Amino acid sequence: MASRPGKIVCVGRNYAAHARELGNPVPERPLLFLKPPSAVIGDGEPIVLPAASRQVEHEAEIAIVLGARLCRADEATARRAVGGIACLNDVTARDLQKTDGQWTRAKGFDTFCPVGPPRTVPHDFDLATLEVIGRVNGQERQRGKAADMIFAVPQLLSYISHVMTLEPGDLVATGTPEGVGPLVAGDIVEVEIPGVGVLRNPVVAA
Ligand code: MG
Repeated sequence: MASRPGKIVCVGRNYAAHARELGNPVPERPLLFLKPPSAVIGDGEPIVLPAASRQVEHEAEIAIVLGARLCRADEATARRAVGGIACLNDVTARDLQKTDGQWTRAKGFDTFCPVGPPRTVPHDFDLATLEVIGRVNGQERQRGKAADMIFAVPQLLSYISHVMTLEPGDLVATGTPEGVGPLVAGDIVEVEIPGVGVLRNPVVAA
């Protein structure tokens, strides 16, 4: 990874089918959490399974790279601040996510945020046409369309910007579609956004 983002703002349960698969209600407003910049790795770098967890899972996601500062922005302004799109894997220790009661440890281990190189898109590009695919060892496990997000990208960015100022280079991970599942040492996990790229990471034991 060439540079670390200032912050990584993530959205939980932004696809109804994924909320249901984990037995969670569909949220009434975006559910936000943070991943630490120290978790970021690049394409090809290994995801290290921590000894503290017995259930580490992949979450293939569409990430937005901020191209401009956003503070209390409306949706139209937020849309214009999209600087790029990147593949992101919101790697999660599912067991710790449940037992801790909040998500900082489960989502925050070193190497738990693989991010691919961003691709810029024109301001008139329809973000709802994006798709994200998750694969483990070449087998498709997840496929989601941005059009199926509960909260669309401009709405998410506007909402977040009313909580915290988004800075250029910050990442917003927009949630994962259904099909999350376990990773074990030796796996190769991929996140693909057609037209953007493929992020591929091996999984290794600590
Ligand atoms: Mg996620």
